[in-house]
Amino acid sequence: MTGRILVVDDVATNRIVMKVKLAAACYAVDQVDCGTAALAAARTTAPDLILLDVVMPDMSGLEVCRRLKADPDTAEIPIILVTALADRASKMAGLEAGADDFLTKPVDEVTLLARVRSLLRARDTARELQQRGEPALGFAEALASYDTREKPGRIALIASGPKGAVLWKTALDDRVGGSVSVLPRDAALGAFGADDDDVPDVFVIAADISHRNEGLRLLSDLRSRAATRHAATLMILPQGDSERAAIALDLGAHDILYDPFDAEELAIRIRAQLVRKRQADRLRASVQAGLAMAVTDSLTGLHNRRYGLFQLDRMLAQAGRGLAVMLLDIDHFKRVNDTHGHSVGDRVLSLVARRLRAQLRAGDLLARIGGEEFLIALPDADRALALGCAERLRAAIAGHGFATGAGAQLLGVTISVGIALSDPGAGETAQSLLDRADAALYGAKAHGRDQVTLAAARPSLTA
Ligand code: GH3
Ligand code: MG
Ligand code: MG
Repeated sequence: MTGRILVVDDVATNRIVMKVKLAAACYAVDQVDCGTAALAAARTTAPDLILLDVVMPDMSGLEVCRRLKADPDTAEIPIILVTALADRASKMAGLEAGADDFLTKPVDEVTLLARVRSLLRARDTARELQQRGEPALGFAEALASYDTREKPGRIALIASGPKGAVLWKTALDDRVGGSVSVLPRDAALGAFGADDDDVPDVFVIAADISHRNEGLRLLSDLRSRAATRHAATLMILPQGDSERAAIALDLGAHDILYDPFDAEELAIRIRAQLVRKRQADRLRASVQAGLAMAVTDSLTGLHNRRYGLFQLDRMLAQAGRGLAVMLLDIDHFKRVNDTHGHSVGDRVLSLVARRLRAQLRAGDLLARIGGEEFLIALPDADRALALGCAERLRAAIAGHGFATGAGAQLLGVTISVGIALSDPGAGETAQSLLDRADAALYGAKAHGRDQVTLAAARPSLTA
């Protein structure tokens, strides 16, 4: 993994030590020696991560951190605070200021590099989502808009033994805005389906649940399952076990903490994970919505032309038995518009779409491929099934008038249908099927409309 890291420290030796460690792991390193220069460099060199000294003559690292997180252009850059102080107050203040982690000098190289990898990976995921979805809120904005009453976060604790669980829960209750529950290991794996909305947002996991490394194995399981893949994970390790902390981070833990921990610190770290999780969820939802929009016709809610034709190709490639393709066109639709206006025309189109959908099976394709033209594909359909279905569709439209406005009379509408049956042996293409269905549709129109015509090897047969 490559990345550009900004090292901020007023002591040259510290910068050099850090640079050597990072350069050995193939990161590009920039260095500055004060807070003011750090703020400028963060904007101009767009680093992927910042290692920030806390005590500096011109401005404290905490202040630099707060300013970077308040600026939308730099808010997303992960920050690791580095300090000789291990005092609780500055640690809390740093995390509250939006720092992602806090390392004490002399910095342990294994922990440092694992932490850097983990933060860069999380940043890459967020960036990728942002490129596809809407721009995300900055950390500060997200924190401000984080309303726990709106949708409380769910935090699941998987501790080693019931005693540990009770201790953790007591420490957290009232400290994090969300519901905290204790889960046995097996429930964490088995209880959630991919579409459940009670999947925890954050899992807090003991490294050793009832056996050594059981928590680490659970972590990889959670990260690999569809239901829990997007949950944040925080691993609790025995004091000083930096080697396994690095492993946990590489396995995908979002954060780590050593036991015994400071309850307030755990709460702050959980809150930060809740905010990030919420941002990511929002982005994923907007990406999903964008994808849905790209394949959907907004007037009828059916698949659009592009997606319909794409899907037809796929169905043809998979068709074991026959695939039946229909082109449907509303008869004299121009008259509807001319007589009743375009908005009534629109209303008719969406009602027609709804009636067509109601006649089809879940695996059938229905797309609006033109103004008043629809494409239907029926997998595993023979001649009789296709003709029966087309006739049902025709009757569903012609059989009842359409209510297009309050008190207005019902509007009679009919459709014409052309059918083509694929010949699986004959290397039929989607285009040749569509051409034949179109010719059959033309035949139905020519023979008086409101009817179904089947394309055949010989000139079209009227059903
Ligand atoms: P035919 O029986 O031969 O199919 O006659 P037609 O009038 O239906 O055919 P034509 O292709 O001449 O006209 C189609 C009309 O459909 C013209 C256009 O104004 C209308 N139309 C196309 N898209 C929309 C739409 O999204 N909303 C509305 N209201 N009308 C549409
Ligand atoms: Mg028409
Ligand atoms: Mg038409």
